[in-house]
Amino acid sequence: MHHFAYQDGRLFAENVDIETLAIDIGTPFYVYSEATLRRHFRVFADAFADAEILVAYSVKANSNIAVLKTLASEGAGADVVSGGELQRALHAGIPPNKIVFSGVGKTRDEMRAALTADIYQFNVESEPELRALGDIAVSLSKTASIALRINPDVAAGGHEKISTGKAEDKFGVPWSQARALYSAAREMPGIAVKGVDVHIGSQIADLAPFEAAFKKVGSLITDLRADGNVIDRLDLGGGLGIPYGKGAAPPHPDAYAKMIKRVTAPLGVQLIFEPGRMIAGNAGILVSRVIYVKESEERRFLIIDAAMNDLIRPALYDAYHDIIPVTDRAGRECIYDVVGPICESSDRFAKARALPELEAGDLVALMSTGAYGAAQTSQYNSRPLVPEILVSGAQHAVIRTRPSFDEMIANEHTPDWLS
Ligand SMILES: *Cc1c(COP(=O)(O)O)cnc(C)c1O
Repeated sequence: MHHFAYQDGRLFAENVDIETLAIDIGTPFYVYSEATLRRHFRVFADAFADAEILVAYSVKANSNIAVLKTLASEGAGADVVSGGELQRALHAGIPPNKIVFSGVGKTRDEMRAALTADIYQFNVESEPELRALGDIAVSLSKTASIALRINPDVAAGGHEKISTGKAEDKFGVPWSQARALYSAAREMPGIAVKGVDVHIGSQIADLAPFEAAFKKVGSLITDLRADGNVIDRLDLGGGLGIPYGKGAAPPHPDAYAKMIKRVTAPLGVQLIFEPGRMIAGNAGILVSRVIYVKESEERRFLIIDAAMNDLIRPALYDAYHDIIPVTDRAGRECIYDVVGPICESSDRFAKARALPELEAGDLVALMSTGAYGAAQTSQYNSRPLVPEILVSGAQHAVIRTRPSFDEMIANEHTPDWLS
């Protein structure tokens, strides 16, 4: 559920009129609903109300500081995958003892920063990483609390680029090496073994792959305990899908929680979750203006002022996003290819999409773009980074401004020999 709806035929974000915002800010821009962010976090946390859990929001889904502060005020922790995300989480006031650090290629500098901050847990993905972490912890007189990310060899995820739990993926410790690496970890100075971690992919639309993976790691915990390890945390990652307006609806968090409680209850562990998309995805839209309607014999193109640098999901993952007019209109529908201005054929948001007839100057909203939207933007084609707006009731604030030309080139320097 989200808070973007028509009132008298005009699209609103909570109580803010989108067309008025567009005139004020200039298009394109993202709008997030604070009420939706809070609601999604609560729905997830409440589904596990009777279990011991840490919900570590996956910062990479939407890393805007205002979004992180909103979630921090709900009690969220953070799952970070870089030193920059660690700094963002700390800057937003997320307590270090709610921060977990994931990722297959943590650098020594990143480990040092995270150890110095006393984060809750490192999710370690290989033996060389484990040894590096132990060395650095010893050099800082710290102890790194760790879980090993296990690759359960389960296929899942809405697209091959976001499936992470198969044996051929780069992620996690191979299933066959897990027990031996835990035994080695137990002996390593600077390392405190705490738990097991698994994350099998993203935009997963049914419970079966989750259940298969979670049962496997559950049985691993039993084996690890028999080997003499103390395991009291189980990090189940993120990956729960969201409705994108087409295809089967993914499971409700309540159904997901029910399955997990059934599978993990006998283990007596703290559960850690790293949801990203499920929190932020339907809390944001991208607003854009039609520049031209171009007709050829074959097709009718809606050329809008947002492009793949502003939202790369359709180009990168063949992702589907609903596109709706900001002013609701009945009447004739047309079939459009909705495209941006960039000189690449993949700069296309929708192919042969039935939409109400639109004209140059009309506004459209690309729905469900709060996760992996603004976070993946670039300035390709020297298009300034798209602004982000947060709405709360009838208030709105610009939470990332559109850079000026001077700001865009501020980090570029002319060498002496050219000046
Ligand atoms: C990307 C990622 C997540 C978040 O995935 P969602 O599908 O957005 O919930 C969680 N954990 C890890 C390790 C990730 O890489």
